[in-house]
Amino acid sequence: MTTTIALVTGANRGIGLATARQFGARGWTVLVAARDAARGREAERVLRAEGADARFVPLDVTDEASVAAAAELVEREYGQLDVLVNNAGIVRADGSASPSETTLATLREVYETNVFGVVAVTNAFLPLLRKAPAARIVNVSSEVGSIAAMADPQGALSELTSVPYPSSKAALNMVTAMYAKELRDTAIKVNAANPGYCATDFNHHSGFRTAEEGAEVSVHLATLPADGPSGLLWGYQMDAGGGYGT
Ligand code: NDP
Repeated sequence: MTTTIALVTGANRGIGLATARQFGARGWTVLVAARDAARGREAERVLRAEGADARFVPLDVTDEASVAAAAELVEREYGQLDVLVNNAGIVRADGSASPSETTLATLREVYETNVFGVVAVTNAFLPLLRKAPAARIVNVSSEVGSIAAMADPQGALSELTSVPYPSSKAALNMVTAMYAKELRDTAIKVNAANPGYCATDFNHHSGFRTAEEGAEVSVHLATLPADGPSGLLWGYQMDAGGGYGT
Protein backbone atom coordinates (compact mmCIF):
# COMPACT_ATOMS: atom_id res chain seq x y z
CA MET A 1 0.00 0.00 0.00
CA THR A 2 1.35 3.44 -0.81
CA THR A 3 1.62 6.02 1.94
CA THR A 4 0.45 9.59 1.77
CA ILE A 5 3.44 11.93 2.02
CA ALA A 6 2.59 15.28 3.62
CA LEU A 7 4.87 18.25 4.22
CA VAL A 8 3.94 21.03 6.65
CA THR A 9 5.99 24.24 6.78
CA GLY A 10 6.56 25.77 10.22
CA ALA A 11 5.66 22.40 11.73
CA ASN A 12 7.78 22.68 14.86
CA ARG A 13 5.08 24.41 16.93
CA GLY A 14 1.61 25.94 17.00
CA ILE A 15 -0.87 25.21 14.23
CA GLY A 16 1.81 23.55 12.07
CA LEU A 17 2.67 20.99 14.75
CA ALA A 18 -1.02 20.37 15.51
CA THR A 19 -1.63 19.76 11.80
CA ALA A 20 1.39 17.43 11.58
CA ARG A 21 0.03 15.43 14.54
CA GLN A 22 -3.30 14.98 12.75
CA PHE A 23 -1.51 13.72 9.65
CA GLY A 24 0.65 11.39 11.73
CA ALA A 25 -2.43 9.97 13.44
CA ARG A 26 -3.85 9.16 10.00
CA GLY A 27 -0.82 7.01 9.28
CA TRP A 28 0.66 9.45 6.79
CA THR A 29 4.36 10.12 6.47
CA VAL A 30 4.82 13.61 7.90
CA LEU A 31 7.65 15.84 6.80
CA VAL A 32 8.21 18.34 9.59
CA ALA A 33 9.61 21.32 7.73
CA ALA A 34 11.20 23.83 10.09
CA ARG A 35 14.01 26.36 9.93
CA ASP A 36 15.36 25.71 13.41
CA ALA A 37 17.02 22.27 13.50
CA ALA A 38 16.76 21.80 17.26
CA ARG A 39 13.05 22.61 17.34
CA GLY A 40 12.41 20.65 14.17
CA ARG A 41 14.07 17.56 15.60
CA GLU A 42 12.14 17.96 18.84
CA ALA A 43 8.86 18.06 16.87
CA GLU A 44 10.00 14.96 14.97
CA ARG A 45 10.67 13.24 18.31
CA VAL A 46 7.23 14.21 19.68
CA LEU A 47 5.48 12.89 16.58
CA ARG A 48 7.46 9.65 16.56
CA ALA A 49 6.64 9.11 20.24
CA GLU A 50 3.00 9.25 19.14
CA GLY A 51 3.69 6.52 16.59
CA ALA A 52 3.90 8.77 13.55
CA ASP A 53 6.28 8.25 10.66
CA ALA A 54 7.80 11.71 11.00
CA ARG A 55 10.94 13.27 9.59
CA PHE A 56 12.47 16.69 10.11
CA VAL A 57 13.24 18.56 6.89
CA PRO A 58 15.27 21.80 7.21
CA LEU A 59 13.37 24.63 5.52
CA ASP A 60 13.45 28.41 5.76
CA VAL A 61 10.70 29.58 3.42
CA THR A 62 12.44 32.93 2.85
CA ASP A 63 15.68 31.33 1.69
CA GLU A 64 15.59 30.13 -1.93
CA ALA A 65 18.56 27.77 -1.48
CA SER A 66 16.91 26.20 1.56
CA VAL A 67 13.62 25.77 -0.32
CA ALA A 68 15.42 24.14 -3.27
CA ALA A 69 17.38 21.82 -0.96
CA ALA A 70 14.18 20.71 0.81
CA ALA A 71 12.48 19.93 -2.51
CA GLU A 72 15.57 17.97 -3.65
CA LEU A 73 15.57 15.97 -0.41
CA VAL A 74 11.88 15.05 -0.79
CA GLU A 75 12.36 14.11 -4.45
CA ARG A 76 15.38 11.94 -3.65
CA GLU A 77 13.85 10.18 -0.63
CA TYR A 78 10.14 9.99 -1.52
CA GLY A 79 9.78 10.74 -5.25
CA GLN A 80 6.48 12.59 -4.86
CA LEU A 81 4.43 14.74 -2.50
CA ASP A 82 0.70 14.26 -1.83
CA VAL A 83 -0.05 17.11 0.58
CA LEU A 84 1.66 20.49 1.01
CA VAL A 85 0.54 22.73 3.88
CA ASN A 86 1.98 26.24 3.63
CA ASN A 87 1.59 27.09 7.30
CA ALA A 88 4.72 29.12 8.19
CA GLY A 89 3.70 32.70 8.86
CA ILE A 90 4.67 35.72 10.91
CA VAL A 91 3.17 38.86 12.38
CA ARG A 92 5.28 41.87 13.37
CA ALA A 93 4.61 44.77 15.65
CA ASP A 94 6.13 47.90 14.09
CA GLY A 95 5.68 50.37 16.89
CA SER A 96 2.51 52.20 16.15
CA ALA A 97 0.46 49.94 13.93
CA SER A 98 -1.39 52.71 12.16
CA PRO A 99 -1.40 52.32 8.37
CA SER A 100 0.12 55.75 7.83
CA GLU A 101 3.12 54.82 9.99
CA THR A 102 3.71 51.37 8.54
CA THR A 103 7.31 50.96 7.50
CA LEU A 104 8.28 49.32 4.24
CA ALA A 105 10.82 47.24 6.15
CA THR A 106 8.04 45.64 8.20
CA LEU A 107 5.82 45.21 5.19
CA ARG A 108 8.66 43.56 3.29
CA GLU A 109 9.51 41.22 6.17
CA VAL A 110 5.92 40.03 6.60
CA TYR A 111 5.37 39.59 2.86
CA GLU A 112 8.70 37.72 2.50
CA THR A 113 7.33 34.95 4.70
CA ASN A 114 3.55 35.08 4.29
CA VAL A 115 3.39 35.63 0.53
CA PHE A 116 6.77 35.19 -1.22
CA GLY A 117 7.54 32.17 0.97
CA VAL A 118 4.34 30.42 -0.06
CA VAL A 119 4.96 31.05 -3.76
CA ALA A 120 8.60 29.89 -3.48
CA VAL A 121 7.70 26.69 -1.62
CA THR A 122 4.71 25.90 -3.85
CA ASN A 123 6.71 26.35 -7.05
CA ALA A 124 9.59 24.24 -5.73
CA PHE A 125 7.29 21.36 -4.74
CA LEU A 126 4.86 21.56 -7.67
CA PRO A 127 6.78 19.03 -9.81
CA LEU A 128 6.54 16.54 -6.91
CA LEU A 129 2.84 17.29 -6.32
CA ARG A 130 2.20 16.67 -10.02
CA LYS A 131 3.58 13.14 -9.60
CA ALA A 132 0.97 12.27 -6.94
CA PRO A 133 -2.29 10.66 -8.08
CA ALA A 134 -4.35 13.21 -6.08
CA ALA A 135 -2.57 16.06 -4.36
CA ARG A 136 -3.59 18.91 -2.06
CA ILE A 137 -2.13 22.32 -1.35
CA VAL A 138 -3.53 24.07 1.72
CA ASN A 139 -2.38 27.62 2.43
CA VAL A 140 -2.90 28.70 6.03
CA SER A 141 -4.31 32.18 5.69
CA SER A 142 -6.37 33.99 8.33
CA GLU A 143 -9.81 35.37 8.85
CA VAL A 144 -8.20 38.80 9.16
CA GLY A 145 -7.24 38.53 5.48
CA SER A 146 -10.85 39.20 4.63
CA ILE A 147 -12.40 40.66 7.77
CA ALA A 148 -9.63 42.56 9.55
CA ALA A 149 -12.04 44.70 11.53
CA MET A 150 -13.43 41.64 13.28
CA ALA A 151 -10.04 40.67 14.66
CA ASP A 152 -10.09 43.36 17.31
CA PRO A 153 -13.28 43.51 19.33
CA GLN A 154 -12.27 46.90 20.76
CA GLY A 155 -11.92 48.37 17.30
CA ALA A 156 -8.41 49.66 18.04
CA LEU A 157 -5.60 49.28 15.53
CA SER A 158 -3.11 46.52 16.17
CA GLU A 159 -0.63 44.54 14.11
CA LEU A 160 -3.48 42.13 13.37
CA THR A 161 -5.75 44.85 12.02
CA SER A 162 -3.27 47.22 10.40
CA VAL A 163 -1.56 46.93 7.01
CA PRO A 164 1.19 44.26 6.92
CA TYR A 165 -0.34 41.07 8.32
CA PRO A 166 -3.97 41.27 7.11
CA SER A 167 -2.95 42.50 3.66
CA SER A 168 -0.39 39.68 3.38
CA LYS A 169 -3.14 37.16 4.11
CA ALA A 170 -5.49 38.89 1.65
CA ALA A 171 -2.72 38.55 -0.95
CA LEU A 172 -2.29 34.89 0.03
CA ASN A 173 -6.01 34.30 -0.58
CA MET A 174 -5.64 35.69 -4.08
CA VAL A 175 -2.45 33.69 -4.67
CA THR A 176 -4.39 30.57 -3.62
CA ALA A 177 -7.21 31.30 -6.05
CA MET A 178 -4.72 31.85 -8.90
CA TYR A 179 -2.96 28.52 -8.30
CA ALA A 180 -6.36 26.82 -8.13
CA LYS A 181 -7.18 28.35 -11.50
CA GLU A 182 -3.91 27.28 -13.09
CA LEU A 183 -4.15 23.75 -11.71
CA ARG A 184 -7.90 23.20 -12.20
CA ASP A 185 -7.40 20.51 -14.86
CA THR A 186 -4.81 18.60 -12.86
CA ALA A 187 -5.10 16.20 -9.90
CA ILE A 188 -3.99 18.97 -7.53
CA LYS A 189 -6.61 20.79 -5.42
CA VAL A 190 -5.65 24.11 -3.91
CA ASN A 191 -7.39 25.73 -0.95
CA ALA A 192 -6.83 28.26 1.79
CA ALA A 193 -7.74 27.71 5.42
CA ASN A 194 -8.86 30.83 7.25
CA PRO A 195 -8.58 30.17 10.99
CA GLY A 196 -9.72 32.50 13.71
CA TYR A 197 -7.91 33.02 17.00
CA CYS A 198 -5.75 30.10 18.18
CA ALA A 199 -3.78 30.04 21.41
CA THR A 200 -0.24 29.82 20.04
CA ASP A 201 3.06 31.69 20.53
CA PHE A 202 1.91 33.83 17.63
CA ASN A 203 -0.67 35.55 19.84
CA HIS A 204 1.76 35.84 22.74
CA HIS A 205 4.02 37.81 20.44
CA SER A 206 1.32 39.86 18.80
CA GLY A 207 -0.13 40.79 22.18
CA PHE A 208 -3.60 40.58 20.64
CA ARG A 209 -4.80 38.13 23.21
CA THR A 210 -2.69 35.96 25.47
CA ALA A 211 -2.83 32.22 25.21
CA GLU A 212 -4.32 30.48 28.20
CA GLU A 213 -1.63 28.88 30.33
CA GLY A 214 -1.10 25.30 29.17
CA ALA A 215 -3.66 25.58 26.37
CA GLU A 216 -3.03 23.29 23.43
CA VAL A 217 -4.01 23.94 19.87
CA SER A 218 -5.85 21.14 18.18
CA VAL A 219 -6.71 21.13 14.53
CA HIS A 220 -9.72 19.32 13.17
CA LEU A 221 -9.22 18.54 9.53
CA ALA A 222 -12.20 18.39 7.26
CA THR A 223 -11.90 15.69 4.64
CA LEU A 224 -12.58 17.26 1.29
CA PRO A 225 -13.95 14.85 -1.33
CA ALA A 226 -11.51 13.89 -4.07
CA ASP A 227 -13.77 15.57 -6.63
CA GLY A 228 -14.37 18.52 -4.27
CA PRO A 229 -13.87 22.17 -4.94
CA SER A 230 -10.61 23.96 -5.45
CA GLY A 231 -9.77 27.58 -4.90
CA LEU A 232 -12.47 28.17 -2.32
CA LEU A 233 -11.49 29.83 0.89
CA TRP A 234 -12.10 27.01 3.22
CA GLY A 235 -12.37 27.62 6.96
CA TYR A 236 -11.44 24.82 9.27
CA GLN A 237 -12.43 24.66 12.86
CA MET A 238 -9.72 24.86 15.45
CA ASP A 239 -10.08 24.43 19.16
CA ALA A 240 -7.76 26.83 20.83
CA GLY A 241 -8.21 26.62 24.54
CA GLY A 242 -11.53 28.40 24.48
CA GLY A 243 -10.94 30.27 21.24
CA TYR A 244 -13.03 30.11 18.12
CA GLY A 245 -12.71 29.05 14.54
CA THR A 246 -14.20 30.43 11.37
P1 NDP B 1 3.52 30.30 15.64
O1 NDP B 1 4.15 31.63 15.80
O2 NDP B 1 3.21 29.48 16.83
O3 NDP B 1 4.32 29.42 14.59
C1 NDP B 1 4.77 29.95 13.39
C2 NDP B 1 5.57 28.90 12.68
O4 NDP B 1 6.02 29.45 11.42
C3 NDP B 1 6.80 28.48 13.46
O5 NDP B 1 7.00 27.11 13.31
C4 NDP B 1 7.90 29.27 12.77
O6 NDP B 1 9.18 28.68 12.88
C5 NDP B 1 7.40 29.19 11.34
N1 NDP B 1 8.11 30.12 10.49
C6 NDP B 1 8.09 31.47 10.52
N2 NDP B 1 8.90 31.97 9.59
C7 NDP B 1 9.45 30.91 8.95
C8 NDP B 1 10.38 30.76 7.89
N3 NDP B 1 10.93 31.84 7.30
N4 NDP B 1 10.68 29.53 7.47
C9 NDP B 1 10.15 28.44 8.07
N5 NDP B 1 9.30 28.49 9.08
C10 NDP B 1 8.95 29.73 9.52
O7 NDP B 1 2.17 30.66 14.82
P2 NDP B 1 0.83 29.83 14.56
O8 NDP B 1 1.05 28.39 14.69
O9 NDP B 1 -0.24 30.48 15.34
O10 NDP B 1 0.60 30.26 13.04
C11 NDP B 1 0.73 29.36 11.96
C12 NDP B 1 0.00 29.96 10.77
O11 NDP B 1 -1.37 30.20 11.12
C13 NDP B 1 0.57 31.32 10.35
O12 NDP B 1 0.57 31.40 8.94
C14 NDP B 1 -0.43 32.32 10.94
O13 NDP B 1 -0.47 33.50 10.20
C15 NDP B 1 -1.73 31.53 10.81
N6 NDP B 1 -2.80 31.94 11.69
C16 NDP B 1 -2.63 31.94 13.07
C17 NDP B 1 -3.68 32.30 13.87
C18 NDP B 1 -3.58 32.31 15.36
O14 NDP B 1 -4.49 32.87 16.01
N7 NDP B 1 -2.56 31.73 15.96
C19 NDP B 1 -4.98 32.70 13.32
C20 NDP B 1 -5.04 32.68 11.89
C21 NDP B 1 -3.99 32.29 11.12
P3 NDP B 1 10.23 29.08 14.07
O15 NDP B 1 9.85 28.25 15.25
O16 NDP B 1 11.56 28.74 13.48
O17 NDP B 1 10.03 30.56 14.31
